[in-house]
Amino acid sequence: MEEALKESEKQLRTLINAMPDLVCFKDGEGRWLKVNEFGLRVFQLENVPYQGKTEAELATFSPFYRDALFCCKESDKQAWERGCTFRLEEVIPQINGEPKVFDVIKVPLFHSDGQRKGIVVIGRDITELKKTEELLRKSEKLSVVGQLAAGVAHEIRNPLTSIRGFVQFLREGNFKDEYFTTMLSELDRIELIVNEFLVLAKPQVMNFRRKNLSTLLHQVIALLSTEAVINNIQIVTDFIPVTALVDCDENQLKQVFINILKNAIEAMPNGGQITVQLKQQHDKVLLYFIDQGYGIPEERIQKLGEPFYTTKEKGTGLGLMISYKIIQSHQGSIQIKSRENIGTTVEVILPIAFDESHNFHT
Ligand code: ADP
Ligand code: MG
Repeated sequence: MEEALKESEKQLRTLINAMPDLVCFKDGEGRWLKVNEFGLRVFQLENVPYQGKTEAELATFSPFYRDALFCCKESDKQAWERGCTFRLEEVIPQINGEPKVFDVIKVPLFHSDGQRKGIVVIGRDITELKKTEELLRKSEKLSVVGQLAAGVAHEIRNPLTSIRGFVQFLREGNFKDEYFTTMLSELDRIELIVNEFLVLAKPQVMNFRRKNLSTLLHQVIALLSTEAVINNIQIVTDFIPVTALVDCDENQLKQVFINILKNAIEAMPNGGQITVQLKQQHDKVLLYFIDQGYGIPEERIQKLGEPFYTTKEKGTGLGLMISYKIIQSHQGSIQIKSRENIGTTVEVILPIAFDESHNFHT
């Protein structure tokens, strides 16, 4: 019996030490019971008799990791409060080099009487993955911005031509008050377009704010209207007045909507109509982008969102992937339904901001 127990313990130890992820068992009071070798390395606790110690005690052995250890303690607390498996990202600074990002899963365990039994922590180093995602995000953004540039130039040329005409009139002594009104409104239009474009092109860190989606959608549609007109496409809005606000990074959401609308435009080489719907349902805002394009064959739907999956000669196959990613980081979802030669509907669901203290793990 004892032999068998020893043997299985040895197997377990070998197993967790061979794992490339951090594994840590703690008791109900947060004392470390067992950590694998990788876990000890992460906090440089290799030669520390860690067993039975809490993060606060361990921090005295490894002061550099003090903050990171206290963060662990904090997120343990959250896991206990939730009472179920809890997933989050933790950033752990490194003495020599860049901080590492971990995808952490915490599993709180309870006795049958509800008392805290212990907590299991598993952490995977996703630093490289994060970097790759960021690179993809940037390259897609650059390509979208590049494509938009042509549209923006076109959009600005018309009001510029009309302003030039009015200046010519004025110079010839034809003076009418309404010339100024028209010129000013044309200038406002140019300013709007240039501002939108700049906001989009600037590199940004995630910046969550409370926003009304209908305003945001109108801005995006204005930005794409020239491109739509050139392609003989009408963008129609059908918004049920939604007053609810969504916690979001405005630029990222705009990027998503631009991606979706551009795909819709590109799917309708012979023109047609794109309908954008906005409605509210319980604690969610629903958006629909409905096109009358060539659609997507059923067997290809599952490929959507895979990086570099494209059917276009000049496509990047990154637009949808980035869009999925962004919506996911907003705790929302995207679903695509399509019928060949009839059209495609892209549904985006986003949660309504519910209280001031709402936390995000991005
Ligand atoms: P890209 O537009 O660069 O090809 P995306 O990730 O934006 O990359 O889209 C991937 C693929 O999904 C497209 O190449 C196209 O085949 C398909 N797709 C996306 N949206 C639509 C749509 N509205 N209608 C038809 N096909 C679409
Ligand atoms: Mg695209």
